[in-house]
Amino acid sequence: MAKQNSIDFSKFKSEQELAQERIVALKDQINQARTDYYEKDAPTLSDAAYDSLERELRELEEKFPQFKTADSPTQTVGGSATTAFSPATHQVKMYSLDNAMDTAELKAWLTRTHDAIESAFDAKTANATKYCCELKIDGASIALTYEQGILTRAATRGDGQTGEDITQNALQIADIPKKLNLDNPPQIIEVRGEVYMPKQSFEQLNKQIDQQNAEIQEENDRIDAQNLNKRKLAPKKKFANCRNAASGSLRQKEPSITKQRNLATFIYAAAKYTDIPQESNITTQHSFVGWLKDAGFSTNPNIRTLSNANEVIDFCNMALEMRNSLPYDIDGAVIKVDNLEIQNALGFTSKAPRWAIAFKFPPEEKSTILREIALQVGRTGVITPVAVFEPTSIDGSIVSKATLHNFEEIMRKDVRIGDTVIIHKAGDVIPEVVGVIQDLRPADVKEYNAPRNCPCCGSLLHEDGAYLRCDNFDCPDQLQNRLEHFVSRGAMDIDGAGKKIIQKLVEEKLITKLSDFYHLRKEILPDSIGKDKTKENLIASIEGSKSQPFDCVLFALGIRQVGKTTATLIAKHFKNIDALINANFDELCEIEGVGDVGALSIKAFFELPRNLELIESLRQAGLNFEIDESQAKPQTLAGLTFVLTGSLQNFDRNAAQDALKEYGAKCSGSVSKKTSYVIAGENAGSKLTKAQELGVPVLSEEDLERILRTGQI
Ligand code: AMP
Ligand code: ZN
Repeated sequence: MAKQNSIDFSKFKSEQELAQERIVALKDQINQARTDYYEKDAPTLSDAAYDSLERELRELEEKFPQFKTADSPTQTVGGSATTAFSPATHQVKMYSLDNAMDTAELKAWLTRTHDAIESAFDAKTANATKYCCELKIDGASIALTYEQGILTRAATRGDGQTGEDITQNALQIADIPKKLNLDNPPQIIEVRGEVYMPKQSFEQLNKQIDQQNAEIQEENDRIDAQNLNKRKLAPKKKFANCRNAASGSLRQKEPSITKQRNLATFIYAAAKYTDIPQESNITTQHSFVGWLKDAGFSTNPNIRTLSNANEVIDFCNMALEMRNSLPYDIDGAVIKVDNLEIQNALGFTSKAPRWAIAFKFPPEEKSTILREIALQVGRTGVITPVAVFEPTSIDGSIVSKATLHNFEEIMRKDVRIGDTVIIHKAGDVIPEVVGVIQDLRPADVKEYNAPRNCPCCGSLLHEDGAYLRCDNFDCPDQLQNRLEHFVSRGAMDIDGAGKKIIQKLVEEKLITKLSDFYHLRKEILPDSIGKDKTKENLIASIEGSKSQPFDCVLFALGIRQVGKTTATLIAKHFKNIDALINANFDELCEIEGVGDVGALSIKAFFELPRNLELIESLRQAGLNFEIDESQAKPQTLAGLTFVLTGSLQNFDRNAAQDALKEYGAKCSGSVSKKTSYVIAGENAGSKLTKAQELGVPVLSEEDLERILRTGQI
């Protein structure tokens, strides 16, 4: 009734206007629902309600195509938010860069380039050649295509030939122009650059993940405490550095997440274009970057055109000095022949332009004050000294501990608590203490004395080469570490037995040796380890571990010198534990990767009655002590050697190598003439170059996937 008296304003709007409003509202709703579902893991709509919204939006867009935009939720691949990216073939290959690891290599490249220019042109041209120097941004490569000035495609580098179509995500990056700022845009242009995550956003993101993990933990505890029938959430992984964060955020399946990640870009080149240079009279890399800036791209201001080796080297040093104060990560400088015509004449190798080189920073070192030398007791009783210092950022990650290897090393380097020490970290390796700055040693600092007793059980330590060792087999730290090793992924894979649960089981004396796991029953587990669900989960994963194959069991035993790879080789060779126990020294030495030391250690292990008893009780528990031949893969890759390089998107490198080995392949860490295939992931570096130089065939991650599926090249 009231309705009849009031004016219905919607009558004054056209059907079109109403549709436009509705489309905007639907998009917001759907995007919000996707964020809640994918990012917060807290769905706010039922699947059916979500689908009906999407359907309504699609119908409206069909009726009013003028309101259909590239960033509409209906436009994500297949109309579904979970579909992976479609491949984006690059019209012009996306190259990597050759590296100069130090100034000598850089000078050598400058000389080589000078000579190449001289022979392509003449001495005068070579002498007058200038170099455009830029920062090497540590992020992920991106290629952006504009047609008539409108962004139509964004792609990752992928293997250089084919990347992933990430247009929807690129639309969410604030500084990527959706439309070029040009009156007469080229018909088509593809620009290239680096997507990065500013250091501040990176820190924020990891902080946020910490917070979310705390919430997840709280919720999981609640599920446990109240015995709720609800799915528990796994904690989220933090990003190791800005580069991983950038590349992970760029490849989100949900564009709204990319948007929240605060990514930014620096664009530095164009690959395919029509009618720009002539019109704008661009003849150099430097002026091209200026043109890109005018067109609306974000370009890096630290760019210089320099004329000789000394100036170029100064630039690299300046970049190194700037590194820590920049708001984004850089991992070097890029030196390019400035003149585009000369660039053209020099051309490309199969991997990289001949006219450019990346000067890579040396691995980072930091000085800090040594606060403490902590002592860790490993599962075999070796005591490892660990340097503890104020948290400091090295190579993009925060570190507060570094290994000192062993006590001989501490003596040799004369490391003392209170000393200023130099910490070194390169890539993903464990940071280490490289030395001490003696001049900064305070007067009252005392010489470091190696411990005489085990920091855990107090037993007198015994010297074993460079190492100190606790010989007490029942030393609690050793037991804890042996148990943690036993349940770990490549071993028995008992994922219900976390560190804390093991601690409790040891405290309660329910476990004093490895085989005790298999005597646990739910009824005897104390409430201190958790609620019913936790107990059931533990028992179930112990039960499940009985099907782990022989090589995993062998690895789980924790024999000194027997890592996962060696365990697999031994298992393959001897096929069952009895043959291994009875093997003599020479037979053991024959196995690849074992050697004298390994053979001695294996013999010593099986000579101890305690270990034979352990094996007997594990065997009775039903563990596999022989190879299951029926599960063995055909040895179709026998005789082939693979080298994996670069970062693989869907595989852990070790796991990929293990999987190849199951087909009989060998894997090596370096490329040589004997290498059969190199498998190159993203950002592959020197190994890829080497392969190309030697003519070793290079395969992609896709090839790897196929090989592992079929066992065939
Ligand atoms: P690499 O990652 O070692 O293969 O080095 C090549 C990559 O460096 C390129 O694919 C780009 O993504 C990246 N890069 C970062 N900054 C620059 C720059 N100023 N010029 C060219 N490439 C750059
Ligand atoms: Zn001890």
